[in-house]
Amino acid sequence: MIKSTIVKCNFCNEKILLRFQIGYFNIPFDFSCPNCDISIYGIKKINENNLIISNAKEISEEINNAKFYGNFSTEFLNKKVSRFNCLEDIINNGASPFMNTTMMFEDYEKYQNIMGKMGNFLHFKEKFLKKIKPLHELFFNKRLDLMANPLLEFSENYIIKNCLDAEIALHQLITMGMNHIMPSNTLKDYTDIANKLMLGKEINEIINFIEFLETKINTKELSEKIIEIYDRWINDFEKYMAVIILSIANKTDQIDKEKYGISTINFKDMRTFYTDSYELILEMITLPVGLNNIIERRNYDCFPNGSKINNFKTFFDCTKYQRIEALKADEEFSKYLNINNNVRNSIAHFDYKINNETQLITFYDKYKSSEKIIEMYLFDFALLCYENIKFIVYLNELFYNIKKISYIKNGLRPNINPNFKEINI
Ligand SMILES: [Zn+2]
Repeated sequence: MIKSTIVKCNFCNEKILLRFQIGYFNIPFDFSCPNCDISIYGIKKINENNLIISNAKEISEEINNAKFYGNFSTEFLNKKVSRFNCLEDIINNGASPFMNTTMMFEDYEKYQNIMGKMGNFLHFKEKFLKKIKPLHELFFNKRLDLMANPLLEFSENYIIKNCLDAEIALHQLITMGMNHIMPSNTLKDYTDIANKLMLGKEINEIINFIEFLETKINTKELSEKIIEIYDRWINDFEKYMAVIILSIANKTDQIDKEKYGISTINFKDMRTFYTDSYELILEMITLPVGLNNIIERRNYDCFPNGSKINNFKTFFDCTKYQRIEALKADEEFSKYLNINNNVRNSIAHFDYKINNETQLITFYDKYKSSEKIIEMYLFDFALLCYENIKFIVYLNELFYNIKKISYIKNGLRPNINPNFKEINI
């Protein structure tokens, strides 16, 4: 069902027809006024059926007096804001966003399955904001005494007697929640990683590496940063939902990016998230680099032959952006980190221009003599943000296992089962 309303820009008075595809989710929207380029944004709430909008207001107006129109929905990509001629023209110009997306799925069951995952993630979001995030804060403040009862509400298995127990319970809750928006098999892959680390014959060298890491990484600060990035992502989840759905379904290459775009979030907000999450990834790169050295060369400080970075001393002398060169794509712990570092480093450094009408972003390097230009649509940029979150979930799995080994090395023993249990989250 489509609900339409006409709004007027507060600055140039342009009249724009907004068409909301009403489904299960509230619809955040963010677009530029096609006349004066000011950002018009807000949210269409499904339950209360009201529209919260900034920089424009709803007016009562004949539909034919609108000059532009935009389609908006949370779970689908939408045709970019375009000139309005008449309703027949809109309908002839492409079916509803719902029809466009569902037509791409040969198999309606697969589509419903992915939508179920999105619904599950929204439930997790509520639990995260109300319980899981405050529980992390209590943990960071060492208030285990206040965590025991709230954690029992999630599972009777969660008997919290020491920091290791709390770490295991919180990590399980986060991982199982994030799993709703991860590719299939993620949890199984992670169990394999844990086994490789905990039960492998290299455990003594891993302990040497952990002792070295303890001189380089502030565990509490890094854990807090990870939760902060998760918090930002989870809060904005609906804004990325259309991109996540298409990515999980492997349909991102079937999108007509000239015609369809993102209507839920603007570039500046995404860029802030992108840059901060990429910084966090670079900070955590130390973990797979050291683990690759151990698994491939039996020594955490033994780097691949031919690498400009040949030990951790040179590694830490480099900038964070250079350190990524030490991560070799074909080594064991790099396999979930498909980081195209040229593009990613460039985005983090370059100046940019965005064309709000076409949603094409141009990143360009002003400072070097050989000018390098990278172009991508807002859609692709949102995909990179989603990939960043996937990388962080993976890196956090390595970090968690390292923390766990460290607790055990220091004499703690788990009172709860550290394997993933079926918890309804
Ligand atoms: Zn305007």
